[in-house]
Amino acid sequence: MKPNFNKSNGLIPVIIQDEVSLQVLMLGYMNEEAFEKTVIEQKVTFFSRSKNRLWTKGETSGNFLCVKDIRLDCDDDTLLILAQAEGPTCHKGTVSCFRTETAKGFLYQLAQTIHQRIDQDVENSYTNQLYKRGINKIAQKVGEEAVELVIEAKDDNAELFKNEAADLLYHYLILLKAKGFSLAEIESILKEREK
Ligand code: AMP
Ligand code: ZN
Ligand code: ZN
Ligand code: ZN
Repeated sequence: MKPNFNKSNGLIPVIIQDEVSLQVLMLGYMNEEAFEKTVIEQKVTFFSRSKNRLWTKGETSGNFLCVKDIRLDCDDDTLLILAQAEGPTCHKGTVSCFRTETAKGFLYQLAQTIHQRIDQDVENSYTNQLYKRGINKIAQKVGEEAVELVIEAKDDNAELFKNEAADLLYHYLILLKAKGFSLAEIESILKEREK
């Protein structure tokens, strides 16, 4: 796995993305030397066009970018690096150099699928069938799944526990929809509490 540095005067763009939140953190450039140093040290080193030298992100601030995965684009001339940021990535003190939201993960995709089944009244959809039985029935299902999860928590069958955990999340999303609330609204309450 090696980028093609010849296409673009020896310098390729590198997108840095947070490994967990998938937030885009910053964009920098690498030459071959910076790339090799990054691979060896597992800490992101760019070639700084303003400093005109290798620049290890965090070299003065201590806010290093620890490499978790390096991916090439389709024609090998751009890199995407998934990293764990040790502190804010932007020198202005923010997590990202861009005004980004926390990336919305798979749960949002699932919530969207659930909404689509309901809004389009898909007949053979379990989601829609449950939805049509009303709030009380949905809430009851959530309660049942929660109890099943509690029961599995007492055992040590990992597969059963994980499946009940998934059941609960899924039914929870249907309940949110039935109550007319979005996942983002719940998320923002949790975000507030983090402060
Ligand atoms: P650092 O690499 O975090 O120790 O920062 C060293 C210097 O690099 C800073 O004083 C800035 O000039 C520059 N710098 C740091 N982070 C960024 C960034 N995300 N984007 C552009 N320049 C940066
Ligand atoms: Zn490309
Ligand atoms: Zn910045
Ligand atoms: Zn279950």
